[in-house]
Amino acid sequence: MKKIIILGSTGSIGSQTLEILKKDKKNFKFVLLSTDRNIDLLSKQIKTFDVKNVVVTNQKKYKILKKKFKSVNILPNFRNIDKKIKSKVDYTMSAISGLEGLNPTLKIIKKTKRIAIANKESIICGWGLIKKELKKHRTEFIPVDSEHFSIWSVVKDYEKSDIEKIILTASGGPFLNKKIKNKTKIKDVIKHPNWQMGKKISVDSATLMNKIFEIMEAKKIFDIELEKFDILIHPKSYIHAIIKLKNGLIKIIAHDTDMRIPICNSIYIGSKNQKFIKSKKIDLTLLNSLNLQKVDYKKFPVIKILNKITKKNSLFDTVLISINDELVNLFLKKKISFLDITSNIQLLINSPFFLKYKHQNPKNLAQIEKLNEFVRLKTRALSVISKKK
Ligand code: NDP
Ligand code: MG
Repeated sequence: MKKIIILGSTGSIGSQTLEILKKDKKNFKFVLLSTDRNIDLLSKQIKTFDVKNVVVTNQKKYKILKKKFKSVNILPNFRNIDKKIKSKVDYTMSAISGLEGLNPTLKIIKKTKRIAIANKESIICGWGLIKKELKKHRTEFIPVDSEHFSIWSVVKDYEKSDIEKIILTASGGPFLNKKIKNKTKIKDVIKHPNWQMGKKISVDSATLMNKIFEIMEAKKIFDIELEKFDILIHPKSYIHAIIKLKNGLIKIIAHDTDMRIPICNSIYIGSKNQKFIKSKKIDLTLLNSLNLQKVDYKKFPVIKILNKITKKNSLFDTVLISINDELVNLFLKKKISFLDITSNIQLLINSPFFLKYKHQNPKNLAQIEKLNEFVRLKTRALSVISKKK
């Protein structure tokens, strides 16, 4: 029996991971699942998968769940989680949203033979630390974000120097062909045309900030220069990445808009008992009309931020993640409008408070977490909120 951990099991990626494993339940032992607040879904998961340990980070919800299950080890945080898990598990899915995922991800690496990471904020802010732990504990890493899984599936067979260009595709989100109004409602922002995802990443897809993050993520995972990346709009989202090789070949990687494809591969790759996702199956005639387009910088001004990213890893990556995390949070709490997100990112990244971080390397988790707190505080204080909401 293979042992499994899922960080963020109640989210979009976490639930899809469990949906795949449910069909093959008898071959897996569920060592640890986690949620922030969704104890109703976690309770169902505990019963269905006979889970031994769970973490509930919201303290009110933790106390409620603690009373409900006597035979399950229910923990209020990830402190000492690496000590509580006795032997190494076979597979971990890291799918907490936001920078909060970095601490548990770093801790779990030493306790798992393979880690699939969906949590892009952790990769962007803490890749140096993650990489060090992966090497130290000989843990295998597979990226789950669809673009990164696609690139990974190709570049693992090439040298870095073989790669001329990597294009990441962006759907353009719900506003590609619609006017973005300041009064845009949350439900319209998170209504992604091709994917069903958590709220945070759905907002990032609507501003296109998600694509900036994905380039930062890819630059780190594959250790490829920023200049080699580009973005093209691809409204149907079935092409995930295009890789131009120096030998003249161009590899276009396509799969259905179904995150279960990278997730399922990350679980079963290399296994004798490999399972596959029966997806919608892309109609190959669709590939005749890829409809790739350049990004409209006027409509999606955040794309200009690509010029502000530092070539080397720096704490400025955390600054960018934290500014955006806080602004998205304020939008979801209805404190700012949708257009305020983009205008404030552009304003805040030029703030003298943050520029010095372009020249500082992330050294440890405490430094990244402290900077995150500081940036979020400053973002709340310095954001300019438009009157018409
Ligand atoms: P969701 O918001 O759907 O789920 C996030 C999970 O993390 C939930 O279990 C949530 O608990 C938990 N969580 C949230 N905040 C905290 C916290 N402060 N401490 C501990 N746990 C917390 O997100 P997604 O599944 O959509 O995304 C997860 C990650 O994967 C993100 O980083 C995203 O960018 C990345 N990703 C997602 C894709 C997708 O298709 N969804 C595609 C590519 C990447 P609760 O349920 O209580 O909120
Ligand atoms: Mg993606």
